[in-house]
Amino acid sequence: MNLGWLIDKGVRDIKQARMILRAFSASGFQAYIVGGAVRDLLLGITPTDVDICTSAKPEEIMAVAARHGWNTEAVGAAFGSIMVIVNGQPYDVTTFRREEYGLDSHRPSKVEWGVRLEDDLSRRDFTINTLCIDGNGDIIDLFGGLQDLRHSIIRAVGDPCVRFAEDALRMFRAARFAAQLGFALDRSIYPAVAAHLQRVRGLSVERVRNEIERTLLAKYAGRGLTFMLTSGLLNQECRQRQAQRDSYTPILPELCHLYRLPQNSRYHHLDGWRHTVSAVEHIPANLTLRWAALLHDIGKGCPGIRGCNEAGQPTDYGHDKAGAAMAGVILKRLKVDREVAGRVVWLVANHMHGPQENLKSVVKWLRKRAKEFYSPEQLAQAIRQLFELYRADGLATRHKLNRRFTEMEQAVTDCLAALPFYPVQLAISGGDIASSLGAGPQVGELQKKFLERIQAGHLENTKEALLAALAIYCNRRQKIASRLE
Ligand code: ATP
Ligand code: MG
Repeated sequence: MNLGWLIDKGVRDIKQARMILRAFSASGFQAYIVGGAVRDLLLGITPTDVDICTSAKPEEIMAVAARHGWNTEAVGAAFGSIMVIVNGQPYDVTTFRREEYGLDSHRPSKVEWGVRLEDDLSRRDFTINTLCIDGNGDIIDLFGGLQDLRHSIIRAVGDPCVRFAEDALRMFRAARFAAQLGFALDRSIYPAVAAHLQRVRGLSVERVRNEIERTLLAKYAGRGLTFMLTSGLLNQECRQRQAQRDSYTPILPELCHLYRLPQNSRYHHLDGWRHTVSAVEHIPANLTLRWAALLHDIGKGCPGIRGCNEAGQPTDYGHDKAGAAMAGVILKRLKVDREVAGRVVWLVANHMHGPQENLKSVVKWLRKRAKEFYSPEQLAQAIRQLFELYRADGLATRHKLNRRFTEMEQAVTDCLAALPFYPVQLAISGGDIASSLGAGPQVGELQKKFLERIQAGHLENTKEALLAALAIYCNRRQKIASRLE
């Protein structure tokens, strides 16, 4: 198969990569575009980065680049990898290599250069990641990658047992590729994962979290997450390094009890896990939202939360607050970005209780939530995210979304746009108030009063109205003061 036409018509990065391949062959070296970029190109996906493998050694890579006026950075020279920058676009150019593995769960113990293309490709994880394109645009397929791509299958290169024993991260990568591409895992992968779960302990929490987050953000997230859960990967521990000492931390065992967890059938047609996964796939692919959807019902079914109503249906009163506490612990331990984690905890805690559609209830509800944020922008963003969670949660239930939801969302959005919830949103500034009242805590107190009166519909948020109200307030204060003298 020749991909020359696709390359020339297609992505600029790939066209430039082909120019690099030609430069290397003109200097007597073999060079190929390899891995993810070839896979993605064949699937009609724009590649995110283009990797090149070559028979040239690092210093030879630098010499070829210098002859063509391309800058280089020796990012991974120790691993035979040089970044070649062409028209501002970086390409990872890596010397063919063979790897040997030892005790470490991820890193090779020995890397050998000066080997053949076939050796380099045989160290790669999955057949669909071994495809290469040469300078003429011809595909090189030594491990049946094309057939697996055609059949949408993720299959290890060689024996998956050996490959997972070498590098345990490949088990998470398999789940992640299944989630990104919507592919099935080859049958041989399941027993191989079961046999190597204990190797996960040696993986760093950062690497594991990175694969989980990439899976979460993928189009078919449910597929990857379900594999991670049912295979036992989420039930393992991984390694965290603090002050140069290793300790071990659970990955996500708190999700496991959701699997096949019965729910109240009046509202739910899915068990706890399938509902969770459906919510994840219904929410936009943003890290905060996807984590929130994954963890929103984590408190369900837990001791002290799970109960039973008169109709014999399961109940989970308080699962939102309990789940938020659990989410906080999980996200901290997995070292998820602190801002993301904080918002996720808030979303989980608030995912059960929206306001009534009437204005009074909406204002009360928003006022309470405004206290938890510093600025109108932060509040508006959090509320938008909460409605995304309500929507995804609702779409994953028996009744989907009802009219009440749309009306509630509209009422909250209108109210947020029309009314001030923070002093900065008042039509007069703190300085305006201070120049009449004098600086001090009385300024903040009056701002609070103004906000309440505006929200209750008793005062307009205009400069004239607020200055008039301020004048009345100052007058009254003076009268009281003179009476007290
Ligand atoms: P993407 O960049 O979209 O995540 P990718 O396939 O390019 O996908 P990378 O992590 O960028 O993945 O790795 C580039 C290539 O290196 C892969 O296609 C694969 O051939 C090989 N590779 C990466 N990580 C491993 C690993 N842990 N074990 C074996 N081969 C690997
Ligand atoms: Mg890549």
